[in-house]
Amino acid sequence: MLDAEPLLRDVFGFDAFRPGQEEIVDAVTSGENVLAIMPTGGGKSLCFQLPALMRDGVTVVISPLIALMRDQVRALQEAGVSAGALTSGNTPEENDQVHAALEAGQLKLLYIAPERLAAGSAMGLLRRIGVSLIAVDEAHCVSQWGHDFRPDYLRIGELRHALGVPLAAFTATADAETRDEIVTKLFEDQPPRIFLHGFDRPNLHLAFAAKDSPRRQILDFAEARRGQSGIVYCGTRNKTEALAAALREQGHNACHYHGGMEAGDRRHVETRFAREDGLIVVATVAFGMGIDKPDIRWVAHADLPKSIEAYYQEIGRAGRDGAPAETLTLFGPDDIRLRRSQIDEGLAPPERRAADHGRLNHLLGLAEALECRRKSLLGYFGEEAENCGKCDLCDRPAKIMDGTEQVRMALSAILRTEEWFGAGHLIDILVGNETDRVRERRHDQLQTFGVGRGQSKQHWQAIFRQMMGHDLIRPDPERHGALRMTQGALPILKGQASIRLRQDTIKAAGRRPAVKA
Ligand code: ADP
Ligand code: ZN
Repeated sequence: MLDAEPLLRDVFGFDAFRPGQEEIVDAVTSGENVLAIMPTGGGKSLCFQLPALMRDGVTVVISPLIALMRDQVRALQEAGVSAGALTSGNTPEENDQVHAALEAGQLKLLYIAPERLAAGSAMGLLRRIGVSLIAVDEAHCVSQWGHDFRPDYLRIGELRHALGVPLAAFTATADAETRDEIVTKLFEDQPPRIFLHGFDRPNLHLAFAAKDSPRRQILDFAEARRGQSGIVYCGTRNKTEALAAALREQGHNACHYHGGMEAGDRRHVETRFAREDGLIVVATVAFGMGIDKPDIRWVAHADLPKSIEAYYQEIGRAGRDGAPAETLTLFGPDDIRLRRSQIDEGLAPPERRAADHGRLNHLLGLAEALECRRKSLLGYFGEEAENCGKCDLCDRPAKIMDGTEQVRMALSAILRTEEWFGAGHLIDILVGNETDRVRERRHDQLQTFGVGRGQSKQHWQAIFRQMMGHDLIRPDPERHGALRMTQGALPILKGQASIRLRQDTIKAAGRRPAVKA
């Protein structure tokens, strides 16, 4: 069977599964009957689209909304997957095309409107074309008690019977009555495996910290957890080696792991980690798949992960046994720059790059969150939550300030220098630092020169970092990383919107930590 991860990356353009997706994809791919309940926006479509590619034959997708089907078909086709739809919205030519592709055995996914199932011809067609899986989106439409009842959904049970293939049903509506009704109406005598778990991992403590002296921060975090098994994720291979050495120097049992190592060495680390208590593995994201050590007590990120999905997956390796586990994610302006340039310099088409920036923005939003992290994390996956009491911001509420005026000063420095400079030079202008470069370019003549004198350089660095985190400014790879304003900053610049920033992370960034003897 094909491997799911490369397809996830290459076809769908995602770097990690979202919570729940992997288990569902595995079950559906291996032909189990499945009922999966996931919040809206949780990523249900992938849970049948990916198995459709991994299985032989055609996957029939039944979905109540024509517009939705057309969207999905278009997106799949753009990703190079052969998909088609049979709906009342089709032109006769479109219908002919879909039929021809089906008869030629070329389609992997066939979307079909439920009312089509009523026509005898559709049943004949589906019998002929080698259907290997039925996927039912919005499965609660089969429920007479729900608000979206679709009588034609009742035919799906017959279809499953007639074709004798596995069925995977998806919905966001989780109440027990609807669930029971879906099971009886769609699966009858072959009860499905039900996936219904929230995304919350309540035993994980969540924390982020602005990078200050990263090595020190990681060493301190490990020190407070001496003797426990943990993982430190780093952005580069070199860093894993250096950080593992630093940990050993402090008397920890630590080793590094990355994709550049010989397979045998990598396996050696994996087995040691599984068997030994209290080993720290300092790794790139190559360390992950296939690790199912239940008692990993902590996960730290020495560098910001790629996306909010990657973050969730990586911290999720801690505390599988349900006992408390801790996480810490460091982030700084260099991470943001690096992640942005990786996206911009990648080979992905423009829409996908835009989506990747969006996913990174969500992670940055989480990093700069003003209140409960769990609430914003779960909110991103479509789940509502109360303040959790188990994250750094619940432990110690953030100090928030009105950052509007300072952000406008920074934007003004960017615009008056025509978006050609990086944070270092812009800060020199703001604090009125007469460097050679400032004098050469006559930037000491600007109106903005020195307007931010009241604050330190570190203060301004933190403001720029938060501005990046809120996606008000972005480095432009075509201008050597010069900062440019985004559309999102316009309302602030024009005085139509204000912005709240974290005050405490600015203070923290300015303070040097006490060095332990
Ligand atoms: P649902 O049907 O559950 O409401 P969708 O399948 O439409 O959700 O997915 C919601 C959004 O999440 C889409 O924009 C999709 O591209 C995105 N998405 C799904 N899976 C992933 C993933 N593994 N990583 C990143 N984004 C994802
Ligand atoms: Zn919280």
